[in-house]
Amino acid sequence: MNIDIATLFPEMLENYLSQSIVGRARAKEIFTVSCHNIRDYTKDKHRRVDDTPYSEQKGMLMQCDPIYNCFCAVTEGRPRPHVIYMSPQGRTLTQKKALELARKESLFILCGHYEGVDERIIETLVDEEISIGDYVLTGGELPALVLVDAVVRMLEGTLSQPDCYEDESHFRGLLEYPQYTRPEVWHDMRVPEILLSGHHANIKKWRHEQALLATARKRPDLLEGLALSDEDLAIIHKVSENDE
Ligand code: SAM
Repeated sequence: MNIDIATLFPEMLENYLSQSIVGRARAKEIFTVSCHNIRDYTKDKHRRVDDTPYSEQKGMLMQCDPIYNCFCAVTEGRPRPHVIYMSPQGRTLTQKKALELARKESLFILCGHYEGVDERIIETLVDEEISIGDYVLTGGELPALVLVDAVVRMLEGTLSQPDCYEDESHFRGLLEYPQYTRPEVWHDMRVPEILLSGHHANIKKWRHEQALLATARKRPDLLEGLALSDEDLAIIHKVSENDE
């Protein structure tokens, strides 16, 4: 997969994209990513890329031309990428969306700043707007990193095996079961006996129950719309009875 990110602050992104799991996936060429400074594509002699919005006294808006020129230069001679504008007005990012985007050949991610971007650039270039939540940040750089991280860990080879993410929260709709590491006893709290038993079938069953319990307690809204067995429903009912 190839990812291009258009931003006014490429340095903000570069550091994160070179570190840890994402950085290793990049080094292994599981994906390529380039951060483009939109300011390099303005024809203004002072390198300006923004102006005041029409009939508004407040804030600055990113102009069409520098963004458009950046997109054209970066994608010239290549198949058109899927274009995403990070925006608080977009659909909220989900695990399902991350998986869907991980199947694309190439992404072009536009980061807004200030008051955002001229609406005409959205109409001309953007395939979809994606939000990372119902709040407003100063720029699209953190949202772009959130998106890239969520997508890259779905790419084959980023994590050691697919069940690293398939068992995790949200992949199948449930939250993940609780996990423990050494020592066996910490502050008088023991690791659940079943995890020391080595009985794989029982451990699998326990983990599924715990995932149901965690979801019912922490995010009951996620259970709506899931296809649950009668056994699953009985486990969840036990939670609601105990919590009452
Ligand atoms: N005036 C815009 C509005 O009210 O919809 C908000 C602009 S915001 C201050 C500046 C930029 O930050 C946006 O263009 C977008 O790229 C990014 N941004 C802010 N909050 C975001 C969020 N929740 N999700 C994704 N991007 C966000």
